Amino acid sequence: MPGTVIVGAQWGDEGKGKIVDLLAQHADLVCRYQGGPNAGHTIIVGGETFKLRNMPSGILAGKESVIGAGCVVDPEVLVQELDDLEARGVATEGLVHVSGNAHLIMPWHVAIDQASERRLGKLQIGTTRRGIGPAYADKAARLGIRVQDLLDEKILRQKLETALAEKNVWLERVYGAEPLELDDVVRRLDRVAPRLAPFIADTSLLVDTALRDGRYVLFEGAQGTLLDLDHGTYPFVTSSNPVASQAATGTGIGPNRLDAVIGVAKAYVTRVGEGPFPTEIEGADQERVRELGGEFGTVTGRERRCGWLDLVALRYAVRLNGITSLALTKLDVLSAFDELPVCVAYRIRGGETTPDFPAHQSDFHHALPVYETLEGWSVPLGGVTSLDELPSAARRYVGFVETQLDVEVSLVGTGAEREAVLASRGVAAVARP
Ligand code: GDP
Repeated sequence: MPGTVIVGAQWGDEGKGKIVDLLAQHADLVCRYQGGPNAGHTIIVGGETFKLRNMPSGILAGKESVIGAGCVVDPEVLVQELDDLEARGVATEGLVHVSGNAHLIMPWHVAIDQASERRLGKLQIGTTRRGIGPAYADKAARLGIRVQDLLDEKILRQKLETALAEKNVWLERVYGAEPLELDDVVRRLDRVAPRLAPFIADTSLLVDTALRDGRYVLFEGAQGTLLDLDHGTYPFVTSSNPVASQAATGTGIGPNRLDAVIGVAKAYVTRVGEGPFPTEIEGADQERVRELGGEFGTVTGRERRCGWLDLVALRYAVRLNGITSLALTKLDVLSAFDELPVCVAYRIRGGETTPDFPAHQSDFHHALPVYETLEGWSVPLGGVTSLDELPSAARRYVGFVETQLDVEVSLVGTGAEREAVLASRGVAAVARP
């Protein structure tokens, strides 16, 4: 029973969407296990660009797609997404399954997310302000509204009333924001509930049954390892667990059902929002990487900070996720540089050098990158169709990553299109190890 997890190995935006899309061709089922509609995977198919938010990328490959219990769902955004996909000829009926245990993002979550980031000012986390964090907070506080609540009008109204009584106090007294009207919220949900009802399913049973039947299941993480709530660069993290083990919890299957973990990493690094970033590029080269790599947020349009490849952070991701092979994306972006610094260790307080990601936040905050500079290849990678055809300096770059991390690089991205991926041993073999 093959189950493969695809996980972001950096700070998100690694190009997971394209890798999932590619591997999904060989899958029977694709599942999202955490996160909400800030994910913003970009996938280009046949010249058309799709920006998916709640939806697993597998839907574009016509695969059964699951939104697991570990996700939070904005019902209005999801309906919009379903409508958009169908309008563009992508089938969703009978293919999309949403866990009844997933939590809903309510209008007050969005209002509180916006008001709280405003209030934090300079100290803001840099959330996408879509209400995802507040929805996860309410889930933990046991005040959440779940997808299955949409199926019962009476229960839904009761729960909304209870939650809103408290949320309006917060909105008004703490954040100085407008309170929400119960009837308005009820009306908004009543409008989307019938549209979503046919998609609500027992996704734990569905995924477990698929695995038992020997169908191939792909688990798709959102964001990235360093944004993990428990293991990332807290507090500049997301409000859920992108790490691979969450694929089991977030869909409701046992951890022994997961066979392989493919980590997706760019050939350089980007980070959105605040927080320490040891390999952030200084000077005009950062702007060059940003322009060449199109490093602007999918949903927000925000500029991403760009850095040289950080193998200390990537080594940490290999450990946390149990990565069995790596997909190295956007190697083509580095074609513009004669020399490529790669960070192999950090110099931390007291002048000590370490290959391992610091456990203490202050060590990370003050970490200085120790670089090895590799030779660039300075030619475009456009026409390259196999790993052997890569310029020798590019092959050395990939080989250096493998040696340093002791993990195979099974996929290399050489362009934005679906076809621009080089596989070490055939995509099907990478997908189903
Ligand atoms: P995700 O959320 O991890 O999927 O990341 P993004 O949505 O930010 O996607 C990354 C962007 O990079 C998308 O626009 C992709 O089409 C593009 N992309 C993915 N792989 C490659 C690659 O190998 N080379 C280039 N140049 N672009 C890529």
